[in-house]
Amino acid sequence: MRPLHIGLTGGIGSGKSTVSGLLVAQGAALVDTDAIARALTAPGGAAMPAIGEAFGMQMVSSDGALDRDRMRALAFADPTARKRLEAIIHPLIGDQAQQAADAAERSGAPAVVFDVPLLTESAHWRARVNRVLVVDCTPDTQIQRVMARSGWPKETVLRVIQQQAARERRRAIADAIIFNEALSLAALEKEVRGLWQHWLSH
Ligand code: ADP
Repeated sequence: MRPLHIGLTGGIGSGKSTVSGLLVAQGAALVDTDAIARALTAPGGAAMPAIGEAFGMQMVSSDGALDRDRMRALAFADPTARKRLEAIIHPLIGDQAQQAADAAERSGAPAVVFDVPLLTESAHWRARVNRVLVVDCTPDTQIQRVMARSGWPKETVLRVIQQQAARERRRAIADAIIFNEALSLAALEKEVRGLWQHWLSH
């Protein structure tokens, strides 16, 4: 039987990675598109030749990886550059995600979870999944969690939140929403388990 394809998304600090870990504990195979993107732009990564050609060697660190800080600054300042980068990386992510999903299918996993931060923005990704799971919380909680987790200043977290899809838009594409606010980890685990059982039996 073909595994259920679940698209998982949520704003920064919503608890998306925590939820993906809980889904894996239930038996899901995880395809982490952020991890794929990082591997593509690591030293020797498959995206690096095209990035060097498009942006020049000033975007490539001495070890051959993408200079993430520089690229982030450029992408914030220049939407065209951001689009050019996405045009290089997104098709490669799509190919690798497909390969990972095929491997998960061969391994007999009952579901594949695609962790896709840009699911709301991407009609293409939404068409590839059977269910969309959104992890949601208030912006105040996002800020608190990311400041605690990553040690970022509040302004940086706010800037990322503003760059991401609006909360309402994200919620509008959901088949299910986990409101991860003032939930203990045990309560979160229980919600994830309930949803998993429901989706795999329907
Ligand atoms: P995301 O992947 O959406 O950026 P994470 O899953 O990394 O978010 O969660 C952000 C931080 O908040 C992590 O340190 C995580 O352990 C913590 N966290 C998430 N959900 C809860 C919760 N329900 N209770 C306590 N801490 C949580």
